[in-house]
Amino acid sequence: MRKAICGAVFLLAAAGALAQPKATPTPDHHERKAEDVFRLQPLSGGVYALYGRGGNVGFFVGPDAVIVVDSQFKDIAPGIVEQIKSVSDKPIRYLINTHHHGDHTGGNEVFRQFAVIIAQDNVRKRMLASPADILQYYPGYLEEAKKKGDAEDVQFLENALAWAKMVKVEEIAAPVVTFDSELRIHAGGETIGIWHTPPAHTDGDSVVYFEKANVLHMGDLFFHRIIPFVDAKHGGSVTGYLTAIDGVIARVPANVVIIPGHGEVTDLAGLRAFRAFIADVLAAAKAARAAGQSKDQFLAGVSLPAYKDYDGYPDRFKETCGVAYDEVAAAP
Ligand SMILES: [Zn+2]
Repeated sequence: MRKAICGAVFLLAAAGALAQPKATPTPDHHERKAEDVFRLQPLSGGVYALYGRGGNVGFFVGPDAVIVVDSQFKDIAPGIVEQIKSVSDKPIRYLINTHHHGDHTGGNEVFRQFAVIIAQDNVRKRMLASPADILQYYPGYLEEAKKKGDAEDVQFLENALAWAKMVKVEEIAAPVVTFDSELRIHAGGETIGIWHTPPAHTDGDSVVYFEKANVLHMGDLFFHRIIPFVDAKHGGSVTGYLTAIDGVIARVPANVVIIPGHGEVTDLAGLRAFRAFIADVLAAAKAARAAGQSKDQFLAGVSLPAYKDYDGYPDRFKETCGVAYDEVAAAP
């Protein structure tokens, strides 16, 4: 059920249906109070990381324009704009979405008033399909929540269904410029590469590389010291995470600065540690499968003590292991 709710938040916030989206289980920074929501971190070459409530925002300040990566939630998007205005009075010209989840796209409704929103083709498709998605899956989740007597979840799911029934798809603030594999934006001497990766977190993941600044925004392809959410229902894959991360590492310099989708700004060593976590989860699932364990047996016993201090370990570790098991079991 947590997974369903997690997906629900992503979808609904993506469509801007909720003024105050219910917090996802973790990371904790989804739940910060208004007065301490934002923290701005200048990096190199006019690139900044902005921590808030939701996926980390990155932005580039050029001589003529500002280019932003991800928009968190609708209710705090005006605050994001304020933070940007505190360092530049240049117009915000483009917003890039790293993927479709609502904690990265919920602010699109605000940004679309002045910026061109850009993302990989699947991001637009997934956002426009969110009402249909909700109508398909949520009646089942609602039954489950009613059986459990979880009033908060029942309310949330009922709101979601009501929204999905009345929303007009054309009103959803989806990207208006989309691409299939790669796109480059040239601005003020900087080249910004947007690279679609193999399916990992979702099937619409992109990373954004600011060449001159040597800063990489990885969206949710990278949760730094946080247990990831792998959205298998929307094309995500645990194995795909390894392929996607390796592909990105092969393209960037060793001293690249990395903005993860969640967690603190770091470097390649931080990314490699996250890759090791994914590889360890996958290896545990493979070993369980090879030993003839059922999924339930595997989940009852699995533990990776090295990662117990990661944010979200109590809530999401076994969920991620379950996705890995399903994937291993389905592999030929
Ligand atoms: Zn995400």
